[in-house]
Amino acid sequence: MPVRIDPTAIPTLPGPLAADGKPSLIGLDGEALAELLGALEPATPRQVAMRARQLFHWIYHQGATDFSLMSTLPKGLRERLAADFSVARPTVTAQQTAADGTRKWLLRFFDGQEVESVFIPEEDRGALCVSTQVGCTLSCSFCHTGTMPLVRNLGAAEITAQMLVARDALGEWPTAKQGRLFTNIVVMGMGEPLFNYDNTAAALGLAMDETGLALSRRRITLSTSGVVPKIEQCGRELGVGLAISLHAVRDELRDELVPLNRKWNIETLLDACRRYPARRPITFEYVMLAGVNDSDAEARELVRLLDGIQAKVNLIPFNPWPGAPYACSSNNRIRAFAAIVEAAGYASPVRTPRGRDILAACGQLKTASERRRREPATGRERLGAAAGLVG
Ligand code: SAH
Ligand code: SF4
Repeated sequence: MPVRIDPTAIPTLPGPLAADGKPSLIGLDGEALAELLGALEPATPRQVAMRARQLFHWIYHQGATDFSLMSTLPKGLRERLAADFSVARPTVTAQQTAADGTRKWLLRFFDGQEVESVFIPEEDRGALCVSTQVGCTLSCSFCHTGTMPLVRNLGAAEITAQMLVARDALGEWPTAKQGRLFTNIVVMGMGEPLFNYDNTAAALGLAMDETGLALSRRRITLSTSGVVPKIEQCGRELGVGLAISLHAVRDELRDELVPLNRKWNIETLLDACRRYPARRPITFEYVMLAGVNDSDAEARELVRLLDGIQAKVNLIPFNPWPGAPYACSSNNRIRAFAAIVEAAGYASPVRTPRGRDILAACGQLKTASERRRREPATGRERLGAAAGLVG
C-alpha cells in the first residue's frame, strides 16, 4: 500500500486498521454502524437501530476485539460481520512502562505508519495523550515531531484505537463509572489536531458517548498551536478544554518558534481565546527555552497579554532531542518566571517530567524505534522526559 502523504486525504469510513486488512468498525458512530448493518441484511429500521446499539455497546463499552464474543447478536450476523469487517486493534510494536507508572505504546497501522500514545497515571486518575497525525506539518523549531519527514492525518479509527488499546492494557473493560484509572484525554501527542479536525472530532465524540467510552468533556483537553478558524468550531461543537501552545509573547519570536504564527498572530489567537466558551480556564503552554523566551520581562508581558482571559499557564521544561537548537531554562529561571505569573493571579504549575526512563516525551519512542532498526539501542535513548501533560 502506498504511503499517503497528503495530510487531508485520509478516509474516515471503514478502512483497514489492523494487520488482518479488513475494514474496521472502530471509529464509526452509532449512525454509521446502523447504515452498515442496514446494508448488510434485510431488517426493519427498528431492528437495525437495536442491532446498531448492541454493536456499539460491544465495541465501545465491552471492548470486544472479536465478533464471536458479541453474544447478544445473532450468530449468523456475527459471522457475516466477521467475514467482512474487523474490530481488531492495530499492532502494538513497542510497549514500555516507566518506573513512575507512565506507559507508552507505539502502534503500527495497516500502511506501516506508526504513532505513539502515552498514559500518565496520577493517584486516582490518569490521562491518555493521543496523537492525531503521523508527524506534523507545522515544524515548530523546538519540537521533534515537526522534524519527521512523513506526515499524514490519522483517521477517526486510528485515533479511537489509541483509547481502546490503553483500556485493553489497563484492563478497564467493560467501561465502569467508578474506579477506573483512565479518566482523562489530552490531545497533545504527535500532530496538530485542528489540522485534522473532522477525524479528531469524530474520535472525541466517541470518547464522550455515555453508552461507550464515557469520558466527560470536562476531562478532555485539546492542544493547538493556534489554528484560529477551527478554535471557534471546536468550542461550539465539542466544548472540550482548550490548551494553546503559546511559547512566546512577541510575534517576532513566535514566528520563529511556532511558524503558524505568521498566519495567525498572537493578537488574533488571543481574540479567538477570548471568544472560546468559558467552561473552565484555557491552558497556555509555555516551553522554557534558556535565554530565548524565559526572561522576567517576558513573564510580565505574558501577564499583560492574558488580561481578561480566564487562564492557567503550564510551564513546560524543554525536553531536548538530538540536534535540538535549544537548551532548557535553569530551575531557578523557571521558578522566577512562574513567580511573576503567579503573583498576577494565574496558576502556573511547572510540569514535572514523567516517564523519564522510557522517553515518554512526544515523538521520542517512535524516533527511538526507527533508530533501533538501524543500530542497537543506546543509553542516549533513556534521557528523555515527558512534558507532564495531565491538566
Ligand atoms: N500540535 C499541538 C499538540 C501537540 S504538541 C500543539 O502544538 O499544541 C503538545 C505540546 O508539547 C505543545 O505545547 C508543544 O509545544 C509541546 N512540545 C513539543 N515539543 C516539545 C519539547 N521538545 N519540549 C517540551 N515541550 C514540547
Ligand atoms: Fe506540530 Fe505541535 Fe510539534 Fe508544533 S509543537 S510541530 S504544532 S506537534
